[in-house]
Amino acid sequence: MNGRSQQCSKSRGDCEGCANGKDEKWTAYLHAICWEANAELFLELTDACLKQIFTLSNKRSTLRGSIVKLSKSKGGIRGRYVVDLLDRTIDTDTLPEVRFPDELLKKLWGAKRA
Ligand SMILES: [Zn+2]
Repeated sequence: MNGRSQQCSKSRGDCEGCANGKDEKWTAYLHAICWEANAELFLELTDACLKQIFTLSNKRSTLRGSIVKLSKSKGGIRGRYVVDLLDRTIDTDTLPEVRFPDELLKKLWGAKRA
């Protein structure tokens, strides 16, 4: 809404966005470590992107420890991201604890526009 995403509370029957006919968009959040920046972050993924990751990882029981490579396809700034999953994985004992984006999203959704 107003150019920003909001949580859909349709299941509680009180979603302002749905009531106003706003488009519903499904997104997934993947806890990741950015190799270049050496920082933890959340990747916001479309359903198509997540499906591709699942397709690429069909023999794995978990995505934890997986190495996802994101690159830009041709088409410059409007190009799409191409997602790839490397064959090698990282020893999960060396990874930080699993994190969920709930708190961060609540902050973003609750933040007043400056
Ligand atoms: Zn909604």
